[in-house]
Amino acid sequence: MGIHFGVDYYPEHWPRERWETDVQLMKEMGVQVVRMAEFSWFKMEPTLGEFHFEWLEEAIALLDSYGIKTILGTPTAAPPAWIVRKNPEIQPIDREGRRRYFGGRHHDCQSNPVYRAHIKRFVTAFAKCFANNPGVIGWQIDNELGNSHGDLCMCTSCQQLYQKWLKRKYGTIEALNDAWGTTFWSQGYNDFIQIGTPMITAVGENPSAMLDWKCYCSDLIVNFADWQAEIIRNICPNHFITHNFMCFDNKVDYYDLAGLLDFVSNDIYPAGHWQKQPHQPESELAASHDVVRGYKKKSFWMMEQQSGMAGWEIMGRALEPGQMSAWAMQSVAHGADAVIFFRWRACAMGTEQYWHGILGHSGKPGRIYNEVKKLTQTFTKYMEDFEGSMPCPEVAIVHNFRQNYALDIQPHHPQLRYVEQLQKYYKALYDKKIPVDFVQDMDNLSQYKLVIAPLQYLMTPELEQHYMDYVANGGHLILTMRTGVKDANNLCMTKMELPGRLGMLCGIEVPEYDCLLETTGGVLYGKKEYQIEKWCDIITLNGARQIAEYSTGFYKQTPAITENKYGSGIAWYIGTEPGEELMEDVMTYITEVCEIETLGTAGDGVEMMTRESEDKVWLFVINHTNDEQIYHLHGRYTLLEGEREEALKPYEVQLFVGNKRR
Ligand SMILES: [Zn+2]
Repeated sequence: MGIHFGVDYYPEHWPRERWETDVQLMKEMGVQVVRMAEFSWFKMEPTLGEFHFEWLEEAIALLDSYGIKTILGTPTAAPPAWIVRKNPEIQPIDREGRRRYFGGRHHDCQSNPVYRAHIKRFVTAFAKCFANNPGVIGWQIDNELGNSHGDLCMCTSCQQLYQKWLKRKYGTIEALNDAWGTTFWSQGYNDFIQIGTPMITAVGENPSAMLDWKCYCSDLIVNFADWQAEIIRNICPNHFITHNFMCFDNKVDYYDLAGLLDFVSNDIYPAGHWQKQPHQPESELAASHDVVRGYKKKSFWMMEQQSGMAGWEIMGRALEPGQMSAWAMQSVAHGADAVIFFRWRACAMGTEQYWHGILGHSGKPGRIYNEVKKLTQTFTKYMEDFEGSMPCPEVAIVHNFRQNYALDIQPHHPQLRYVEQLQKYYKALYDKKIPVDFVQDMDNLSQYKLVIAPLQYLMTPELEQHYMDYVANGGHLILTMRTGVKDANNLCMTKMELPGRLGMLCGIEVPEYDCLLETTGGVLYGKKEYQIEKWCDIITLNGARQIAEYSTGFYKQTPAITENKYGSGIAWYIGTEPGEELMEDVMTYITEVCEIETLGTAGDGVEMMTRESEDKVWLFVINHTNDEQIYHLHGRYTLLEGEREEALKPYEVQLFVGNKRR
């Protein structure tokens, strides 16, 4: 497409006289695309049916005259006050039964038919106005769907839709009663119309009902996006449609959402105030990019790449010189075809007045501007070659939203989080410079030498068979604690000891377990004692070999980690959460058994990642630290960008090219 760097731009925040200065500065910085208008409904329709697109047409024409293209966002995450005043019922209801009012954003119910009618009316006019505009290339539906929608929405409209959804799924109320186990605490229903949205209870919740609710909410969001996309697609068949995801966020099944988009986009704020400080670890950022690539098994766009201090009432740390460029190129290394920086200029008003951008409040180009300019000058010439190319990892980690939902409902241990478990396994591979794909559980796994499937908590006969077939045919599989615990309805398995039929695959049984509440435990692996956390499955060997044993608890000297040959492959079972040291050592052992290739060796803070096209391999070496670093590569590559091979300056990004091996 020839478009690889851009900014999120809000010309409506600034006087008209400023626009040309902005566009000139953008052009000089290497901007090829902007995203606009995703929060500008009032500006475009100040009263019912009175459309004012002329300011936007003018901005688009000005940008286009400098060769800068536009992506338009539909502003449906912030309906204007006149709609809300006219139709207050479109405002969502939270679990406490409170209406959530106008004054922020996302003050809308996505199932509400009145709100949908307003959207249809507006989006149709919006799309028609820009369908043949030469400056416009595509659309972003809404903004960060799922954001701010924690437990929304409990309104009557959502209740009716939820009842229909359940009826479609279960057919009869008896089937729902069985699936939800409503015999417990007298929760049986006579009819679907008795079922409410999950408002706050006196105490406790039905885990099966909550799982269905989360799946319903995800389906509603996907339906909302699909329905909007359809309106635009019919009017603008030549424009692409995308949406800005939020990494691992768990309010909507992103695999489903990705299905209706031409490509996936992502937003990332490594140094936001809500992240671990001083910033989210690079391994977690890398995993986020990898999972985003996995949602559609396709390269993606960064729609919002952090370019300044981020926060609302509280702010995160300032970005060090070079740090943002390293993060931006990390996005590219993991599969981004374009990087759009949020945002062009920090604005003077509103909730996000301290969400900084490339330009500060004064609008004068400074340190960050010059840094991005250098970045685009260095890398734009390669970006066209990268486009569409993908990493080809030998290792996959299984990721699934239903497992995430089920463990959010019952985390077992107060600190246990599904995505964090995935991140812990990921980090051990990242540190060894081993690229990783994220896959869904029922995907074809045969291309991977090693598959890691943490917390396979909800299990089906099909998934059991899928894993058994993969290993029988020579695959290497890691399963972990809390595997095979529940069926697809979130009811406990009762026919066999845990982990069900996968016990045959792993050569073990798990008749008992222990939650390490307010404590940690120990494991002996080799001759060394290591720390473990959160959980211990108490394992009986049934053909497997023990490779680590517990050193604490009444079950000490019993197996903690096992290995079992099955068919032509190997299944490992890790019955606990390994501390970082144990994780590193066990993963060294397993990746060596599987003969997984590593890209090189380097200290912490140096990242290596590849993208491959038909005949070429691009290798990125990124220094995420403010210190000089040394490294060593395991393959033969030619240095394209960078000062000196095997040495990195602070935050330096080096680019190599090599020939494809496979
Ligand atoms: Zn609602």
